[in-house]
Amino acid sequence: MRRIQVGIVGAGPAGLLLAHLLRQEGVEAVVLEAKSREYLETSPHRIRAGVLEHGAKEILRRAGVGDRMLARGLGHKGIYLGFDGQLLHLDFETLVGKGIWVYGQQYLVQDLIRHHLGVGGEVLFEHEAVDLEDLHTPNPTLVYRTPEGRIGRLRCEFVVAADGSHSSFRRFIPGQRVHEKVYPFAWLGILAEAPPAAEELIYASHPQGFALFSMRSPSLSRNYLQVDPRERLEDWPEERIWEELNLRLGGAAEIRPGPLLEKSLTPMRAWVVEPLHSGRFFVMGDAGHVVPPTGAKGLNLALCDAAVLYRAMCAFYKEGEAHLLDRYTQDVLRHVWQAELFSYWMTTLLHTLRDPFEERLRVAKLRHLAESPLLQGFLAENYVGLHTTVRYVDLIPVQP
Ligand SMILES: Cc1cc2nc3c(=O)[nH]c(=O)nc-3n(C[C@H](O)[C@H](O)[C@H](O)COP(=O)(O)OP(=O)(O)OC[C@H]3O[C@@H](n4cnc5c(N)ncnc54)[C@H](O)[C@@H]3O)c2cc1C
Repeated sequence: MRRIQVGIVGAGPAGLLLAHLLRQEGVEAVVLEAKSREYLETSPHRIRAGVLEHGAKEILRRAGVGDRMLARGLGHKGIYLGFDGQLLHLDFETLVGKGIWVYGQQYLVQDLIRHHLGVGGEVLFEHEAVDLEDLHTPNPTLVYRTPEGRIGRLRCEFVVAADGSHSSFRRFIPGQRVHEKVYPFAWLGILAEAPPAAEELIYASHPQGFALFSMRSPSLSRNYLQVDPRERLEDWPEERIWEELNLRLGGAAEIRPGPLLEKSLTPMRAWVVEPLHSGRFFVMGDAGHVVPPTGAKGLNLALCDAAVLYRAMCAFYKEGEAHLLDRYTQDVLRHVWQAELFSYWMTTLLHTLRDPFEERLRVAKLRHLAESPLLQGFLAENYVGLHTTVRYVDLIPVQP
């Protein structure tokens, strides 16, 4: 049976960044990925997130995978808030001295794969991890199925589950608790071949519901509508979606419709698994925690987890120190709950609420935000990642 140091399940941003950072330190990590490279790199279902916190951009740059991101990504100073018929610009650079970077997750995954394979890293595509044996021994063993249907095993020193929100591996953490919140909304999302409504994201609050106008590139718009979770996708033909987006934007900017590449309905929920490790087994990214997308935190949290586990594994392999591995859950939960808090705050600030009392409080909150530089500072420091990715930038050595 093949022996390796670190076996990672899942070639998403979390798994790939960890593998790449470890490789640069001479630690042998093998990534098992159920899907093909082509699917990860080109399927419209994998376009997903697009907002990188200031710290995420810096982590990726330092890790040596940021060349295309810096050349093609879009630097944004802030965001717009649309409500009461006005468009308020929150300038994060003025408020907290940092901005954000817009770059599609799928491009980022392409970059991570290209750079990692380029330095001799190993990603086994179309290899589905199916089981974990000998969990509570010094050599947990990953069992996987090859594209030909054969069963193989990797004897590891550490196993990391970075297998996304539908993770089948997090079940291996004994005695885990799941803290969950189901929000009474869903997001109807479209990806369209059309220029975005504005050069920066617009978060629009309208009595009929929230709408988000964002982008993945200068020619690709990603727009969302708050809908009831019982809505059906087939009741939303293209024309109705564009009409509703226009209505909720309230004339604050111009929407230019274009062909739809994807249409999806996502119920809004949040959950966190505790603990996130057991012995030599660790859970990272969406496999361990999910946030509603309002605060644009999911991808950024995945990168935070990778940075924390990278530091802990380096301490183990370079200095023989295990204490950072022992406190992995504690360290990760700190940024995770900060992001849950911010995502909850943004979600309940922007989504129209059914309860008339709650709804009036929400509108009062928005008006307060418009007048209060202190509240705007709270939003800005969380949005750019001062309590998430920015905390971890210095852990990543600068690669040439
Ligand atoms: C449909 C969708 C849309 C999203 N849109 C947004 C958005 O607009 N804005 C935003 O901020 N965030 C968004 N997110 C969240 C963001 O994309 C995630 O937070 C981010 O992808 C987390 O990265 P990850 O590496 O933890 O997991 P993932 O990116 O999910 O990667 C997990 C990988 O594990 C692989 N895998 C799973 N099981 C196995 C197995 N048994 N064996 C081998 N491989 C396996 C999967 O194929 C996948 O490649 C979205 C997420 C989803 C699912």
